[in-house]
Amino acid sequence: MKPLEIGGVSILPGETKRIELPMPPLYTDTVLSMPIHVQRGKRDGPTMFVSGAIHGDELNGIEIINRLMKSKSIKSLRGTLITVPIVNVYGVLNQSRYLPDRRDLNRSFPGSKKGSLAGRLANLFIKEIVNKCDVGIDLHTGAIHRSNLPQVRADLDDPETLAMAEAFGLPVLLNADIREGSLRQAAGDLGVKVILYEAGEALRYDEFSIRAGVKGIINVMRHVGMLNKRARKGHEISRFIARQSGWVRATESGFVNHIAQLGDHVCKGSVLASISDPYGTELSSVTCPEEGVVIGKQNIPLTQEGEAMYHIAYFRKPDSVAENLELLQDNLVLGEPSIVY
Ligand SMILES: [Zn+2]
Repeated sequence: MKPLEIGGVSILPGETKRIELPMPPLYTDTVLSMPIHVQRGKRDGPTMFVSGAIHGDELNGIEIINRLMKSKSIKSLRGTLITVPIVNVYGVLNQSRYLPDRRDLNRSFPGSKKGSLAGRLANLFIKEIVNKCDVGIDLHTGAIHRSNLPQVRADLDDPETLAMAEAFGLPVLLNADIREGSLRQAAGDLGVKVILYEAGEALRYDEFSIRAGVKGIINVMRHVGMLNKRARKGHEISRFIARQSGWVRATESGFVNHIAQLGDHVCKGSVLASISDPYGTELSSVTCPEEGVVIGKQNIPLTQEGEAMYHIAYFRKPDSVAENLELLQDNLVLGEPSIVY
């Protein structure tokens, strides 16, 4: 097995270590470090990273990683699991998506040692983590006041990435264009296959999103050979790749009554929400342009004309997607406190 060293700390096969990777301090001279957890199996296998809070206000990933590390399923892994619950420590401190220099870390990869703060952090993450991995899973949520239905986004034209995305085990897959400066782009340039898990809302923990995330990562670990394959319990979930997706925008400014919910199968002309003035008079209703499934929605009942309200994904079989989402919810047994992954 190849030697592994992160932040000057070496991790031997069979070892589990917590590493605090030093980062530029705050202007108050407060020392900062990126928390990293490394678990190496005794047997050889792939190296995978799982990253959370690249956007500092997207917190579900932190809890997903914490539960993953405690999970019994990963005890006898082959290869190496590197988890980084908080990549953008500055953002988490400020409860902000961005870095203190107002840059978006996920538009600053691969960065450089002498670049902006965002560029330096991106460079550190690439050099110390991504560069040492074969595959990765990057955890995200919707924006503030916006929730995403658990979904995997990836370059689904690449067969290996597609297989990983399918292995995650969610009904909704989105073929997402690679954004300039994103972690996915920089990792791809290094030959590291990365999929992105999007679920829930910024600044909130969402139980369904967390459970689906932990389960999905373990499924991918089985797929890449880090864990033994196991006979599936519950009903098998079918996967569907969205042909396209788009936001339905507010037709008026006003107060919103949301009718459609995440995961709903909606038809052309379905009323998604109604918008009223401060006196309760309905100004207009927001309708769906084409048959699809709601994969993202605004939660705050206030809207401005033109604001993105509902994210709809368009599938060949939208009714089957909705059925499989219900199955997924049943398989994850919401309401049962001590789930074993
Ligand atoms: Zn994000």
